[in-house]
Amino acid sequence: MKTIINYIKSLFLWELLKGLKLTGSYLFGKKITVQYPEEKTPMSPRFRGLHALRRYPNGEERCIACKLCEAVCPAACITIESEQRADGTRRTTRYDIDLFKCIYCGFCEESCPVDAIVETRIFEYHFEQRGDNIITKDKLLEIGDRNEKQIAADRATDARFR
Ligand code: SF4
Ligand code: SF4
Repeated sequence: MKTIINYIKSLFLWELLKGLKLTGSYLFGKKITVQYPEEKTPMSPRFRGLHALRRYPNGEERCIACKLCEAVCPAACITIESEQRADGTRRTTRYDIDLFKCIYCGFCEESCPVDAIVETRIFEYHFEQRGDNIITKDKLLEIGDRNEKQIAADRATDARFR
């Protein structure tokens, strides 16, 4: 019986009609094409884009050069050098991330005990010169300063960092 039904279905191109029905439903349905870059899709507060280094409200760098992020990075793309300041605190003298190697896994931000290294919502960036893929401490701090409001708001809503 099943063979006969299959034979009749194939005779009347049943599978093809099923496919055309699906195509037709999208043809007349509501269009969901996003006109990027004028339009953007909603973004999660957990989005893992370009990195940034944060400061405390008094302007002091958060990073204490513990190197946990460097150790946990599976792509080995973070390079940190540090020194002790006159006041006894330890701070980085070099904090580089090679963005060609980075896989945007977010391990660095999750491992950081002081919430210093974070991944922002920034995903529209490019490099023009050889070496621009190495993002330095100065650039990371600048990105952090420029986006602190958004970074703080995103982390306030993210249960991982509360
Ligand atoms: S996001 Fe992942 S790969 Fe990129 S720097 Fe952080 S730990 Fe390394
Ligand atoms: S960014 Fe965080 S984890 Fe990395 S060295 Fe600084 S304090 Fe440590």
